[in-house]
This record gives sequence, C-alpha cells and structure tokens, in this order.
Amino acid sequence: MRPSPFPLFHLLKRSYSNAPVTTKLFIDGQFIESKATQWVDLHDPATNNLVTKVPQSTQAEMEAAVNSCQNAYESWKNTSVLTRQQLMLKLQAAIRRDMKKIAANITLEQGKTLADADGDVLRGVQVVEHACAAGTLLQGESLQTVAKDMDITSYKVPIGVTAGICPFNFPAMVPLWMFPLAMVTGNTMLLKPSERDPGATMLLMELLNEVGCPPGVVNVIHGTHDAVNFICDHPNVKAISFVGGDKAGKHIYSRGAANGKRIQSNMGAKNHAIVLADADKNAALDSIAGAAFGAAGQRCMALSVAILVGDAQKWIPELVEKAKKLKVNAGHEPGTDVGPVISPQAKQRILQLIESGIKQGAKCPLDGRNIKVEKYPNGNFVGPTILTDVLPSYECYKEEIFGPVLSIISADTLEDAIAIINSNPYGNGTAIFTTSGNYARQFIHEVDAGQVGINVPIPVPLPMFSFTGSRGSFHGDLHFYGKQGLNFYTETKTITALWRKGAVPANVAPSVAMPVLN
Ligand code: NAD
Repeated sequence: MRPSPFPLFHLLKRSYSNAPVTTKLFIDGQFIESKATQWVDLHDPATNNLVTKVPQSTQAEMEAAVNSCQNAYESWKNTSVLTRQQLMLKLQAAIRRDMKKIAANITLEQGKTLADADGDVLRGVQVVEHACAAGTLLQGESLQTVAKDMDITSYKVPIGVTAGICPFNFPAMVPLWMFPLAMVTGNTMLLKPSERDPGATMLLMELLNEVGCPPGVVNVIHGTHDAVNFICDHPNVKAISFVGGDKAGKHIYSRGAANGKRIQSNMGAKNHAIVLADADKNAALDSIAGAAFGAAGQRCMALSVAILVGDAQKWIPELVEKAKKLKVNAGHEPGTDVGPVISPQAKQRILQLIESGIKQGAKCPLDGRNIKVEKYPNGNFVGPTILTDVLPSYECYKEEIFGPVLSIISADTLEDAIAIINSNPYGNGTAIFTTSGNYARQFIHEVDAGQVGINVPIPVPLPMFSFTGSRGSFHGDLHFYGKQGLNFYTETKTITALWRKGAVPANVAPSVAMPVLN
C-alpha cells in the first residue's frame, strides 16, 4: 500500500496556514505533486483558514492522465464482470470503514455538518453497493430463432474513456455517482472534482489503490475552466458526466456534444413544496425547515420555495419558530444544524439576493443576514432566512439562491400552486404535504418536475432508480445511476447469428433484396 498523502493532521487540525498541504494529482495509481504555476487556495468555510492548495493541472499532466485512462482501458474492458464486481464489493466495505474520515474531510473543506457529511458519503456508497450487482445489471437480451437457424443477442459494452466533472456541494456522493458505474461497466474515467473541495475524491482514490484497482482505471486532474475545456475537446474522451451549475452545465453540454461526446448534465434547481391545509402540520413544517436550511441550503434538492395553499398560510409564525431554533455553527461542532456556506463570495451573493427580495416587496420575518457565531467570527455564516409575500417576478425567486433562504408564496388553490411550479424553468424536485390521496395523485400527474415527493421533502431516488431531474435542471437523455446510468456508460452491441443446419443447396441464386427475416 502506498503512503497516504493525507497525514492525520490534515483531517484534524483546523489551522495550519504556514505550510498548507497541497492537493495531489492521481495519475496511473500514483499521487503526484503538480508542476502547476497556478493554484486555487482552499479555505475552511468556518474559519477561512487556508486548508490546501489545489493545482490548475498543466496541459502535460492532463495529457498524461487521459493517456493513462486510454492505456488502462485496453485491458480493463476485458476483465471479467466478476473481477469488477469483486472490486466494487471491496470498495464499498473500505468506504464504509472510512466513512468518518471522509466525512471529517468534507466538513473541513466544504463546511457541512458531520452528520450531513456522513449522509453525503452514505448516498454515494449506495451507488457502489448497487454496482455490486453488475452480473445481473449488465445482462443484455437474447431471442432464439428469430428466423430459421437464426438468433439475436445483445450485449452492453463499454464506451471507452469517460470523464466526470463535479460540483462542490456533494464532494463524495457525486464522484460516487460517476466512477463506480463507469468502472463496473468496463470503462475508465478521468475525474475532475470541484476545485473547492477535492479531498473526499482523493481519499476515495486511496481506497481504490487499497482494494487493488489497476493503475489508470481512474485518474484525477484538478483545475477549473481549462481542465473542463480539455475534457470537452479531447478526442479520446467519449462521454462526460457533469453535475453543477447552469452556466458550466450548458457550456459543457454544447461544447462536448459538438465534439461528438455523449453528455449527461445535471444542473441548477428551484424546488417547490406545496403545503395544503389538510397536511400533518408539524411533520410538514419540520420537513420544510430541514429541507430548506439543512446543508445551509446548498443542495440541488433543497426546498427553496414553499407554496402555502389556503389556511396553511396561517402556519408561517410556527415555521419561523422552528427555523429560529436551528443552531448555526461550524460543521464539526456538536449540535450544529446549519454550517457555513462555501465562500465569502457565496455569502455575499446570498445576502444580496435577500436584500433584493426585501426591496422588491417581500417581508422578512426571519432574517439571518447578521448572524454572529462567536467562536468562528471569520466564517461564512448565514442564518436561516424566511421571505414571505414573494412573487415569481422577484429576483430572489428567479435565481437559485443556494443558501439557507426559504421563499414563501401564497396560493388559493392546488391548481394555482401547480401552475406556479410548472411555470418555473427548473424541474429537479418538488414535494407536496397533504393527507389527501386524491390531491396527492392530482399533484403527481399534473406537476412538471422529474422527482416528486409525497410528504417527502427531498425525494432523491435510491440507486436502483435514476436521478431524474428534468427541464432546465437537466440536459441529456440518460440520467445518473440506476438503469439509465448503466445505459449511459454502455453501448448496445446486437449480434444476429445464422448457424444453418445442413448445407445450402447449390442451385440457390444470391439474394440482392433487403433480407426479410420471417
Ligand atoms: P459550478 O457549476 O460552479 O461548478 C461545477 C464544476 O464545473 C466544477 O468542477 C467547476 O470547476 C466547473 N466550472 C465552474 N464554472 C465553469 C465554467 N464557467 N466553465 C467550465 N467549467 C466550470 O457548480 P458548483 O457551484 O460547484 O455547484 C453548485 C451547483 O451545482 C448548483 O447550481 C446546484 O444546483 C448544482 N447541483 C446540481 C445537482 C443535480 O443533480 N442537479 C447536484 C449537485 C449540485
């Protein structure tokens, strides 16, 4: 086993600005110091102390990484399904063993609470566990005697070097949506984690080495726009999995597709919850507070808008009371509900959007803009904030705030509430809180969003299904994980075989017409 590039103090000590550990590249199974001339400083969001420096990989390093993927592909694609499956089994055990260590790194680099960071790893390792069923998942189809002496069989075959480009908000889960499925289907992967928190990916690479993954099956480069454009343009990269914001997602989708690549691009969101007056009030308000303010609102499935229908509008004071009780503090402090947001710039943007909402006419019964966290005066904290009387024309409604801010809209009827959701360009997730089966059913069938929760605030599907965000939240055809994820990472090869019983009569003329099999 190679020595860890992550000495324990890297995970535990929260301030060592004198000599920050650099984040390494992972090429051909080795952790390599980059020769980059440009580096991105990564700060602990709770303190703004420097944690590590992340390289903007050089052209030569990126070329070396993609070549390593290409070389490894030639043998990896021919490994048996059982070999790949066993690797997944070992990987899932190693991730579960090291879950706390990975979670601690996430809290340090990204800021979320330790419990939430555990969930980040857990939702990722569930994809690895699903991939352990490769022997069944990768089965093709066959039909015997489609014509006389003729059978058709289809195989799912790998596509080659794939690439993954990740966002900052789920540093373990999103890479785990990508490389395990790419690998188990026989591909190799070039991974670019977020430059804002690559540590979890690097710990996962250590585990890949530990469980015996051949060098080059996964390579990791770091960087921002240049690294992304390198991936979009490189002829050996056949497919790109992207998760992140709209600007990058649309750019990658168009640039990668123009270069003939298969793309799946999960982008931004504005997720609405409808609350009907017949809902279980406490359960609904707890769910909404948790889903709006958990992870400091930095989830693509965060509930950022609540539409209160009819008498449910009277519940605002109780919702405010519940949100007030959430404890804002550094993510590693016991009892924290809401950690810091990722950067001072993100905080500034959130504050501006709150302010613009108030200027445009929203009321603010809970204002987290001036929150003070005594022990961490330099952290990027924003307290839970509630804006009411929000209209769909307001900037704070149109923009994805990606912070602990809940906008409340009032509606007279369920139909009006559904119409608001369907007019929003995003289609990632939505939820309804009600005890009426008929209203729930109407919502399921009339709402235009890809992931629907019935009394479930964050309906992220488990890996046996797919993550099916729609409309403005997704570009592409095949979604992440589940059957669609397997299809994304494979081509279908269909074999039509004729094994004639007996010799062909000598006097039959060659047929030049299109063969009709019947
Ligand atoms: P981001 O778009 O800023 O960054 C994502 C990746 O793209 C990073 O690796 C980054 O280096 C790269 N990148 C950023 N800007 C780029 C540009 N202009 N050109 C090329 N590459 C660029 O996203 P983020 O801030 O890290 O993550 C938050 C966003 O991700 C939110 O919008 C959130 O909704 C979205 N997200 C979506 C899902 C989903 O499944 N739909 C899941 C998680 C996060």
